[in-house]
Amino acid sequence: MMKWFGAARFVEAGPSAGEAVRDADPSQPAVVFEKIGKVYGGAAQPALAEVDLQVAKGEVFGIIGRSGAGKSTLLRLVNGLEKPTSGTVRVHGIDVGALGTPGLVALRRRTGMVFQHFNLLSAKTVHDNIALPLKIAGVPKVAREARVNALLELVGLTERRDAWPARLSGGQKQRVGIARALVHEPDILLCDEATSALDPETTRSILALLRDINRRLGVTIVLITHEMEVIRDVCDTVAVIERGEVVEQGPVWRVFGNPQHDATRALLHTPGHDLPDDLAARLRSAPDADSHALFDVRFTGEASEEPELAVLAQAFGTHGVRFVHGGIERIQGRAQGRLVVSAPVRGAEEAQALAVAARAYASRVEVLGYV
Ligand code: ADP
Ligand code: MG
Repeated sequence: MMKWFGAARFVEAGPSAGEAVRDADPSQPAVVFEKIGKVYGGAAQPALAEVDLQVAKGEVFGIIGRSGAGKSTLLRLVNGLEKPTSGTVRVHGIDVGALGTPGLVALRRRTGMVFQHFNLLSAKTVHDNIALPLKIAGVPKVAREARVNALLELVGLTERRDAWPARLSGGQKQRVGIARALVHEPDILLCDEATSALDPETTRSILALLRDINRRLGVTIVLITHEMEVIRDVCDTVAVIERGEVVEQGPVWRVFGNPQHDATRALLHTPGHDLPDDLAARLRSAPDADSHALFDVRFTGEASEEPELAVLAQAFGTHGVRFVHGGIERIQGRAQGRLVVSAPVRGAEEAQALAVAARAYASRVEVLGYV
């Protein structure tokens, strides 16, 4: 893995740099949430309840949930912008709640933050927006310029260094936001809906940049979003949060391939047996004399190989199975998805027997009904 810009970390001036860094234990997970509860003053419902999560060093950890689920609150606990009502947050082994002001300043330098609405200073150029936190930290001019130039290059904005934020596209503004979050060579980057204000194409390019920063610089990323595409494209691990509680977590391929909780299914847009309208309108719960059964064939990604169509077809024998709807995607190198297939059957019992036979070749097979 590339070190930060190939250069040694430089020592930042000021009395605050030491405390949190000194106690950091690189063998500890990047972030540990232990039994976190958070109640805002005056709120009837807790914003967070009993949250236990671990973010491993070097991963991209996604937290997804609907608006108001508690995502931003959780993220802001990491750099001490919010304090938990109960429980402990540790960053590389450091108890965030035990830090005094200098420790918090140091912690915030080790944890960059990127925002949905970029939070750029409109009266400062791209260069000056990135340089400002270094100036505040007392970094000498020569080192500052070298760092800003390296960051401009990293985010692909060298040509726009003297531009005003108002003249930048949304994607360019977020690139400035990311560069600014990286000025102190943080170990952790916190992204609060970093792509939610961007169009899909720009979103993809920003996610590619984040992935690159994660891989090349070894920066752990904790990212919150309400969009499953963001999780799918960039995260290693995902936690689903619903009304302040973690309802599901695990590797992205597993959670996507076999979602257990209704909140996850809703975010994945797979409520029950969503079928195209024409099929749903024709679907009957009992077969007629000349019915075709519809089978929902799911691949969760647990299998080591891609599903082999011939083998699936064999399970249906001479029934003339047809591919009706669905598809397979790759997530983290695993093939997963769903095929809806149909086959003529003489009755419900035969349909169930075919489903059982097909289960040898897919993760799950269900009879959806008859058309
Ligand atoms: P999300 O980021 O998932 O949309 P938030 O963490 O912002 O959710 O909010 C979780 C809950 O806490 C919401 O009900 C929200 O209204 C409440 N909340 C968030 N911030 C504050 C605050 N500063 N004061 C009072 N309530 C808050
Ligand atoms: Mg939020």
